[in-house]
Amino acid sequence: MEYRKIGKTGMSASVIGLGSEHLDGKPYAVVEETIHAALEHGINIMDLFMPGDEVRRNIGKALGNRRKDMIIQGHIGSVDLSEQYDVSRDLPTCKRYFEKLLDNLGTDYIDVGMLFFMDSDEAFEQIYSNGIVDYALELKQKGVIRAIGTSSHNPVVARKLLETGIVDLMMFSINPAFDMTPAETDVLSTMEELSAQQYVTIDPVRAELYKYCEQQGIAITVMKTLGGGRLLSAEHSPFKKAMSVPQCIHYALTRPGVVSTMIGCQSARQVEEAVAYLNTPEEQRDYMDIISGYQGELSGQCVYCNHCQPCPVNIDIAMVNKYLDIASLDTANIPPSIRQHYKSLAASGADCIACGNCEDKCPFSVPIIKNMERAEELFVLL
Ligand code: SF4
Ligand code: SF4
Repeated sequence: MEYRKIGKTGMSASVIGLGSEHLDGKPYAVVEETIHAALEHGINIMDLFMPGDEVRRNIGKALGNRRKDMIIQGHIGSVDLSEQYDVSRDLPTCKRYFEKLLDNLGTDYIDVGMLFFMDSDEAFEQIYSNGIVDYALELKQKGVIRAIGTSSHNPVVARKLLETGIVDLMMFSINPAFDMTPAETDVLSTMEELSAQQYVTIDPVRAELYKYCEQQGIAITVMKTLGGGRLLSAEHSPFKKAMSVPQCIHYALTRPGVVSTMIGCQSARQVEEAVAYLNTPEEQRDYMDIISGYQGELSGQCVYCNHCQPCPVNIDIAMVNKYLDIASLDTANIPPSIRQHYKSLAASGADCIACGNCEDKCPFSVPIIKNMERAEELFVLL
């Protein structure tokens, strides 16, 4: 398993995480098999947004004395008042469900307390006016939660919340189809019509959000990595080509800021399929054939696909481009962590021999040689 640091929290997450929605309503044996397989394979982070007592109890029981081995994202505002998934911004209700979460799991802490479903300006206003942000801050101060997170599908609202500085981790819906959906479009309501959408380019607001997270040390965990399964089917994918699970995971993991993809599983076999990503050769992770039809619009912009490898001097070209993009957000204030990451690379822009092999292979006409020079200039010479 590979692990990535969760921003400034001191925690590290496995790059494959567990989405547990599909465990809802399942018998205990299924929950146990899935959770145990996840732990066995080194998965150490899971999302638990479901409000029902039974599934929460089953997960707590399956974790047993390995509770400390799993980072749990638990949500503040996820309720089932009308016997189905629902959102509440009422403080007493939020408290009641969050306290029940602790009780159901048989634990006295939640690793990441998530401000649930922050998809609208109204939700943003309500979490402040109804005391929900104060509640989360108090939980963190008391050590009941170790970090504050949020879940969102809306890049504009998410950015507004991140800019308050209270959020350590954001769970966000990321896949190539959603990334090419304009920021103002509600991806959930259009999910059924993805095939009818016109994809032009990666939406700049979404791309900026990911870079902003990496710049600010806010970790991203990913939901909807497989687009609800639609991206795995040529018939249902808007790209009219089926992606594989490793390709979808690789796309998410190569976005700036991303630390883990939460893959929904309901059996040991599905957990094994998800972690198989780790042993998938680079050429089978490559998602270029899916989005390369959009190179006209993406021209010159790196999408961190690694299609340009191998480099004869072993420069991780996608990574250099990623750090360069983040630094370019504000060249006067390059985060020390990004500068450090760049300097820790085994080979950097300074090693480029300008052979041009990579530029011939890049479908997006990225000026790689120039970028290598610029990266060296920004991170080392200036
Ligand atoms: S031009 Fe530079 S970065 Fe590209 S393959 Fe050659 S050495 Fe590597
Ligand atoms: S430079 Fe081109 S081929 Fe290389 S990672 Fe970026 S987009 Fe992909």
